[in-house]
Amino acid sequence: MTALVLGHKNPDTDSIVAALSAANFYRGRGIDVTPVAQGEPAPETAFVLETFGLQAPEVVTSVAGREVYLVDYSDLAQAPADFKGATLLGIIDHHKLGDVTSAAPVECWIQPVGCSNTVIKKLHDIYGIAIDPKLAGAMLCAILSDTVLFKSPTCTEDDKKAANELAAIAGVEDLQRLGMEMFKAKSNLDGATPRELIFRDFKDFDMSGHKVGIGQLELTSLEMVSTDLKAKLQAELNAVKAEGRHSALLVLTDVMEEGSELLLASDDASIITKALNTTLSDKMWLPGVMSRKKQVVPQLENAFKA
Ligand code: MG
Ligand code: MG
Ligand code: MG
Repeated sequence: MTALVLGHKNPDTDSIVAALSAANFYRGRGIDVTPVAQGEPAPETAFVLETFGLQAPEVVTSVAGREVYLVDYSDLAQAPADFKGATLLGIIDHHKLGDVTSAAPVECWIQPVGCSNTVIKKLHDIYGIAIDPKLAGAMLCAILSDTVLFKSPTCTEDDKKAANELAAIAGVEDLQRLGMEMFKAKSNLDGATPRELIFRDFKDFDMSGHKVGIGQLELTSLEMVSTDLKAKLQAELNAVKAEGRHSALLVLTDVMEEGSELLLASDDASIITKALNTTLSDKMWLPGVMSRKKQVVPQLENAFKA
């Protein structure tokens, strides 16, 4: 039976495109795989797939009895509920090492770079496997998305090099323009409920026994979030917290201003605000904060450890 290549819950562009590009990599080595996703593409990803004429991977939420390659995560909290009944074959990722484990040795490619697709581009080069222009365009977008147009502190020289090489394959000349079009699609708040907006890019973490959920919306301008919408998001965040979490955060990132506004619902707000260097108020602006992975999660994990 074909092995699944599977990204994380609430899939972002990197997670969905990594399933496609990692599948290309494994197939290039003669391994039978099928790219899948744990959800439908969000607006940004839909824009990317449409722009480069690619199909969204099939949605799969149960993996018991299957062989699985993970892309863009290695945390059980971000895997399907029955993941422990699956056989883990490999991981390609750029996050902190998570808590999945395996019965047999697995093939792991994990690097501290800005995007899983940067790792996957290097793997194609190492193994001499070709990337077609459509896939290269989508991989480029994944890098632009995860590194917020190379502005995120997670961005490395490797990401820029991979992006430029992929742009050449895809025939993309203006990376900034493509990136801005993509973020415009991502910033589209129309027609989504407050709950959908919170969960569009949301991750749960176990922080020293406390469940902390963190959503992030990357916007071309914070002005898109009206006072009314902000109040609705806060009310929904309170409900999300009440569903068994110690804290629920929504990080509203302004990609042009290069900072984020924090919405927070918590059993103990001061542990969160202190860790993020702010104080509880109606407008908690976190200057320079663009990366959940580097500028929010480790700070909170440390605070909960203390
Ligand atoms: Mg991701
Ligand atoms: Mg990623
Ligand atoms: Mg992201």
